Amino acid sequence: TAVIIDGKAVAEKIQGHLRSQVEALVQKASRPPGLAVLMVGDNPASAAYVRNKERSCGKVAIASYGRHFPTETTQEELMQAIAELNEDDRVDGILVQLPLPKHLDAVAAINHIHPDKDVDGLHPVNLGRLMRGEPGLCSCTPAGVMALLKNYGIDPKGKQATIVGRSILVGKPIALMLLAADATVTMAHSRSPDLGAITRSADILVVAVGRPELITAEMVKPGAIVIDVGINRVTDYEGKSRLTGDVNYDSVKEVAGFITPVPGGVGPMTVTLLLQNTVKSYIRRLGLD
Ligand code: NAD
Repeated sequence: TAVIIDGKAVAEKIQGHLRSQVEALVQKASRPPGLAVLMVGDNPASAAYVRNKERSCGKVAIASYGRHFPTETTQEELMQAIAELNEDDRVDGILVQLPLPKHLDAVAAINHIHPDKDVDGLHPVNLGRLMRGEPGLCSCTPAGVMALLKNYGIDPKGKQATIVGRSILVGKPIALMLLAADATVTMAHSRSPDLGAITRSADILVVAVGRPELITAEMVKPGAIVIDVGINRVTDYEGKSRLTGDVNYDSVKEVAGFITPVPGGVGPMTVTLLLQNTVKSYIRRLGLD
């Protein structure tokens, strides 16, 4: 059976390292790193993510300058808040928690963040930098996947990597990162016929779809490295709610070489990379390197 990739342990290790790095840097700088998470409305899932991000900031001594706006906030008010944070020297990272309420334009909001404070890596400038292989801030979940592979000594070089899902948040940036790491990359999506035929050739299979247990054992090459990005809330036959990934964990772990669980795989890495991006931006902005 597969080696379980322990995202929680890797995340804790990286956070510990970040904390000592920040403690050393704060001696030289006059302030701690700062992160501002902007949330609009009261989507309970978003609220839980934001709380988790702010709690994690505390763990590595990053100051939180988050703001929570009521649902009826206008686009102008949101843009104004972003503009103020762009100018605020204490703030190294700004992120807009998605999804926004329907009347707001998320793309316009993201495009308004200064690219060098865009710790979610979603600004077109940072996506362009990733595309061109230039240094920049890269999106947290994809970078978290790459960090997991690295921590388990998995080198994508020469491997066949298949990504299922082509979102701008996850699938596309992961494809570019694996390509930059010399994997041979295939992308599959909702319009790909015979998904199993495509996924079965993968040495590294990354799944970011949002369909509970879409990937079953017969779709996986024996020994493959399976990275499950999906987070789905499902209700079991007893009426109990639980989280599951896009991979049928119980069957796939019998054929895979490595597998990430849900929860406890990719999830803890996303927030860790957010902290890492904030520290990276802090170092760069204060010229501390
Ligand atoms: P999305 O809805 O934007 O994109 C889903 C992608 O899956 C699309 O490109 C679509 O073409 C593809 N797809 C849909 N149905 C398919 C099918 N039957 N077969 C093959 N491909 C199919 O979603 P997203 O933002 O990329 O998120 C994907 C999943 O990852 C969600 O479950 C989300 O909750 C999760 N997620 C997890 C983290 C984390 O920190 N672990 C971060 C972001 C997203």
